[in-house]
Amino acid sequence: MASSFARLARTAENAGRLQVSKEPVDNPPYDIHTLGDQVLRTPAKRIGKVDDSIRSLARDMLVSMYAAKGIGLAAPQIGQPLQLLVIDLEIEDPKGPPLILINPEITAVGGSLCTYEEGCLSIPGVYLDVVRPSVVDVSYRDEMGRPKRMKADGLMARCIQHEMDHLNGVLFVDRVTDHDKLREGLGEKGFNPADVHAIA
Ligand code: ZN
Repeated sequence: MASSFARLARTAENAGRLQVSKEPVDNPPYDIHTLGDQVLRTPAKRIGKVDDSIRSLARDMLVSMYAAKGIGLAAPQIGQPLQLLVIDLEIEDPKGPPLILINPEITAVGGSLCTYEEGCLSIPGVYLDVVRPSVVDVSYRDEMGRPKRMKADGLMARCIQHEMDHLNGVLFVDRVTDHDKLREGLGEKGFNPADVHAIA
């Protein structure tokens, strides 16, 4: 009896999960906008109702993210200024479910400030150090519209903060403090340093 209840509970939980193959496809539903495109600088709007159109968008974002072999993607990167982001730190594991965050808010930061080399599907080939808090508490809605909270550390905390920046029109290069390396890294990949909106 207990085990059948557990099975029911698991089934109910899984019903909300989007079933998306992680196998990279050749023709993903969306192209990813790159540094210099204005949509990346547009603040994203909160999502009112989490309905099938939002779930469909999240699914298409995941397919586009897996095609680009990324671990995170925010809706502005595919030209949709909405507060929706998808994360999957286990893109090599076909079974691990992705994380879908709708209207995410950081409610607390903690741990220590740490330096980590970041990259971004919108600035391909550029990897530079960024300093961020190591722990964050986040509240959000999942793909079924259910309110959720989580505490994240390590790579997950890093990824959430990077993706949430996208919702505010901020890119990781805006936070890079070594401006010589920044100019060099962008120049090598043909990006224009004038498209950086330096925060510090
Ligand atoms: Zn990014």
